[in-house]
Amino acid sequence: MMGHTRRNELLEALGLAKEPTRCPKCGRPMSPGSLGTQAFVGGSSWYPERSMFAVRGDPIVPQPMGGMVWLDGLRCSDCRLLQLDY
Ligand SMILES: [Zn+2]
Repeated sequence: MMGHTRRNELLEALGLAKEPTRCPKCGRPMSPGSLGTQAFVGGSSWYPERSMFAVRGDPIVPQPMGGMVWLDGLRCSDCRLLQLDY
C-alpha cells in the first residue's frame, strides 16, 4: 500500500500519472468506451445545426467499417454526456 502510494507520487512528480478525465458538468471521472452507430449507406458527419436534407456536413467518419461507425471516447452516464475522439 505504502509502496503503491510512493509510486503514484513519483509518477505525478514526473508528470506521468494518468489522471482520469473529469466530466465538465459534474466533475466526476468519465468512463472510456466507444460509440457504435449502424451506418450501412454513408459515414458520420458533423452539422453546425440539424437540417432536413443533411447538407453542409463535415465528414467525421467518411467510410464506415463493416457497416458501423465507431468513435472512441469518454462518457458520463449521470450527465448523459459523451466526449468523442475522431
Ligand atoms: Zn457528469
